[in-house]
Amino acid sequence: MSVSQGSSSEVVYSIVIPVYNEEQVLPELYKQLSPVLDSLDGEAEVVFVDDGSTDQSASFLRGLACRDDRVRTIRFSRNFGHQAAITAGLDAARGQAVVVMDADLQDPPELIPELARKWREGYEVVYAQRRSRRGESYFKRFSASIYYRLMVHLTKVEIPVDAGDFRLIGGSALVALRSMREKHRYVRGMVSWVGFRQTGVPYTRKERFAGETKYTLGRMLRFAADGITSFSWVPLRIAVHIGLIASALSLGMVLWVLYEALIARRTVPGWASTVVIILFLGGVQLFSIGMLGEYIGRVYDEVRNRPLYIIDDSDGADDD
Ligand code: UDP
Ligand code: MG
Repeated sequence: MSVSQGSSSEVVYSIVIPVYNEEQVLPELYKQLSPVLDSLDGEAEVVFVDDGSTDQSASFLRGLACRDDRVRTIRFSRNFGHQAAITAGLDAARGQAVVVMDADLQDPPELIPELARKWREGYEVVYAQRRSRRGESYFKRFSASIYYRLMVHLTKVEIPVDAGDFRLIGGSALVALRSMREKHRYVRGMVSWVGFRQTGVPYTRKERFAGETKYTLGRMLRFAADGITSFSWVPLRIAVHIGLIASALSLGMVLWVLYEALIARRTVPGWASTVVIILFLGGVQLFSIGMLGEYIGRVYDEVRNRPLYIIDDSDGADDD
């Protein structure tokens, strides 16, 4: 199977794979992915997005792009992050349907034909939904399950629970997604946000084939905050709600203070209550200002309007 020069418009499926220091998994990934590409009911290409890897991933991918003309690679000038890499792949993909999957084989390539089948049935978005997660720490599973359920309550967007970025996006949904250029990207939420007909296919998330997770705790927390701030105002309103409650309580306090001062005339004690009130309100105020800051910082990033990623070079098909 080969994409002849100049006829790349025939590509039906584009598999987008973000890669960050995955030299240990890439050969096995290619081995498993290659037969799946052949089995699809249309021309397929793979777009590897090298997110500033510092190991041998780049040279392996360059070699692959030379040997196999279904393979294209894009290399970033530095590490821009998983979501930026997915975005670059979506932008570069030439297929009518794009499948986004991780490089580490946690997302099994065998599922791709099933995603494609649903797309042929007429769904614009087919997400792979984790039935169970093997080989991930108890903490990760626990925090993920709390987080996805929290998202459901905080946002009006119906983001499917337990679905990552492994999904097929085609047709109008793909066009819509490409038009969204926001800087703090929570791609899985954005895909849900565009609407159209969406459906899920269950799968078992496997262990990482080799290497270590690239999502440290800090990165995970930042990603989680992006998800909430991109789709919800609720945190901003928390300050309003606490403020209202505090005001209502303080009204009661005022009556009590007046009674103590004017009628009972015993105003000196009260150190404990004063200190508690100051500490509590101080905490609430700092928390609220911090919350505001989270949003203002993101507004600042949007306003600066820097590109989402910078490409160093690309290989494969007719390089562009
Ligand atoms: N990744 C990336 N840039 C990053 C971090 C990760 O392109 O800054 C890629 C990584 O190579 C993998 C995918 O994103 O293909 C998911 O990362 P990982 O498996 O480490 O995350 P986890 O599955 O542990 O959440
Ligand atoms: Mg992984």
